[in-house]
Amino acid sequence: MTKTTETNAPENNAADAAPETRSFEADVARLLHMMVHSVYSDKDVFLRELVSNAADACEKLRYEGIADPALLGEDPQPRITVTLDAGGRRLTIEDNGIGMSEAELGEALGTIARSGTKAFMDRIAGAKDAEGSQLIGQFGVGFYSAFMVADRVDVTSRRAGADSAATWSSDGLGTYTIQPADIAGAPVRGTRVELHLKEDAADYADGFTVERRIKAQSGHVPVPIWLKDTPD
Ligand code: ADP
Ligand code: MG
Repeated sequence: MTKTTETNAPENNAADAAPETRSFEADVARLLHMMVHSVYSDKDVFLRELVSNAADACEKLRYEGIADPALLGEDPQPRITVTLDAGGRRLTIEDNGIGMSEAELGEALGTIARSGTKAFMDRIAGAKDAEGSQLIGQFGVGFYSAFMVADRVDVTSRRAGADSAATWSSDGLGTYTIQPADIAGAPVRGTRVELHLKEDAADYADGFTVERRIKAQSGHVPVPIWLKDTPD
């Protein structure tokens, strides 16, 4: 194969640069493959996992806010907002918690350092796909379970106190991109997880379905959860 290098291309500058594409760690790629192909497991777990991450982020902010109250700004009350867009087949979960910087997005959503997921991966090592998908239901396995119902996930986040935001985006097929986001369109503080739902998961943009599942799975969550049936 010939490799052609353009020698007279203009210098890249940040505004024109294409988003940086990175590969998932091998274990994440394996986990994602299972998520995408899981036909037996209870897909509802993704909602519990994303709501629990949002609540964790609010709790982390509350904790950091004790030492540095300025982080809470003019918006001290924790809040999780779930927005449904049936027409666009989208489900969005937003929190006003601690948020993630560009670097934190890459660390948190590309690797598998976390203990729960690691234990899960150890357990399914050698398991067949069908067993794996049942284990997904039992373990939950966090953020990556979003890819059970979504064929693209966009995460836009702005860390508390930061004056910049970034978007992580992936189709769950091996790579993801991270790029700076316009702060005007980003949460003022915290994280927005936008799921582009698969055709067979369109139900998760339906208000009745989602409300019932949130009540069943996330009733104990100590942060108020608001449900919005149409996007702003
Ligand atoms: P766990 O919650 O067990 O750590 P997850 O896969 O659910 O694992 O999430 C991975 C990491 O991504 C979290 O530890 C956290 O650092 C980050 N994260 C995920 N969702 C959010 C969010 N809404 N706000 C801030 N950080 C988040
Ligand atoms: Mg989690």
